[in-house]
Amino acid sequence: MIKENLSKIKNSLPEHVTLVAVSKTKPVADLQEAYDAGQRVFGENKIQEMVDKYDALPKDIKWQMIGHLQSNKVKYMAHFVDLIHGVDKFSTLKEIDKQAKKHDRVIACLLQAKIAKEETKFGLSFEDIAAILSSSELVALENIRIVGFMGMATFTDNTAQLNEEFSALKNFFDTQKLKSDTENCHLEILSMGMSGDYPLAIENGSTMIRVGSAIFGSRNYN
Ligand SMILES: *Cc1c(COP(=O)(O)O)cnc(C)c1O
Repeated sequence: MIKENLSKIKNSLPEHVTLVAVSKTKPVADLQEAYDAGQRVFGENKIQEMVDKYDALPKDIKWQMIGHLQSNKVKYMAHFVDLIHGVDKFSTLKEIDKQAKKHDRVIACLLQAKIAKEETKFGLSFEDIAAILSSSELVALENIRIVGFMGMATFTDNTAQLNEEFSALKNFFDTQKLKSDTENCHLEILSMGMSGDYPLAIENGSTMIRVGSAIFGSRNYN
């Protein structure tokens, strides 16, 4: 079913939208099946799990960290991670920069914006993001590159509310894109949309969707 699910989703996507296959909690065999069907971008939310899968699977996979970050674990993925979605603290950017430097890499990062009304979702306010982007300290972080924003909408069927949350982030993204274009900040990715809401996210300007259960089936945990 993984192959069929993937091609159904891929065929419906506009050219400019990247599909991240969210494989958290799923066994390596499931990822291999998606890989064999042509999928190369995978998202995981736990660093250790991503490292184990990186070791087990082909090396042309792009591994993206979509989960909440613990700074002390950044070092375990710094040699291979393709994109980090969930940055919600300046100190985390510093740690990513430090670890990337050790491997002579520049690691692409997305700042996570809080757009949901729910208490539980992580993320920065738009004000905090603007402050980070205009901070003079950012210039010194030569081994990171901020390439966009990530947002998770409220878990709801309310289309009006989802549109409101997605479009607020898109508008903010467009404004910041004009303002901040420096050596290590070039905004081009807007990561919004999951299995339940990605068509709406795309309508609202998403360029990257993170889809798990619609590809791999439902999860027992996480
Ligand atoms: C699990 C997860 C997803 C995918 O969720 P689905 O509803 O299974 O598509 C997307 N983004 C983040 C940050 C996640 O943790």
